[in-house]
Amino acid sequence: MKIGVLALQGDFSEHITALRKLSVDVFEVRLPSDLKNLDGLIIPGGESTVIGKLATEAGLIAPLQEFGKEHAIWGTCAGAIFLAKYSNEPQPLLSLMDLRIERNAFGRQINSFQEMIDISSMVDKSHVTVPFQAIFIRSPMIRVIEGDVKPLATLSNGTIIAAQQGKILVTTFHPELTDDLRFHQYFLTLVKLCTP
Ligand code: GLN
Repeated sequence: MKIGVLALQGDFSEHITALRKLSVDVFEVRLPSDLKNLDGLIIPGGESTVIGKLATEAGLIAPLQEFGKEHAIWGTCAGAIFLAKYSNEPQPLLSLMDLRIERNAFGRQINSFQEMIDISSMVDKSHVTVPFQAIFIRSPMIRVIEGDVKPLATLSNGTIIAAQQGKILVTTFHPELTDDLRFHQYFLTLVKLCTP
């Protein structure tokens, strides 16, 4: 399996490290031609405005949109904003997921937090599911999901923090900052389902 990680800005190297632990071939994506032959793509956390600006300059917006029609893409935090249809601020978006998302809705860097979350909806029900450590750093909040977007995980107050629409997966937190590979494994399962 060949997985790309958008490597324009943000914490792409943490995703690359996580994917290597799962023994997949990983490629950094900076140009449209880098998308060739990939089976799936991760868009990392960082600053969605910067990622959007650099992707526009690299001529990547349309190629990424085309890629997302055929392949699985997972966006974490800033990546989730970039995949959404609407953000509360004007910025380049891929519009690949029917989400309304608000940047920095949990507050500033100092308001970064962690919560152990229930991910039993995402894993084999025959096992007791250990909670997942979800790390939020100036995270966006998913305000509205539309169409056939399905929530995968929520905070204890009901806020949706992971969602999926067909081949597109978003998490507003950072699984790549933990040693827990279950979200990366989940994404690879999705990639396999989408690969003919
Ligand atoms: N605050 C960032 C943004 O608006 C996202 C933060 C992150 O990816 N950790 O794009």
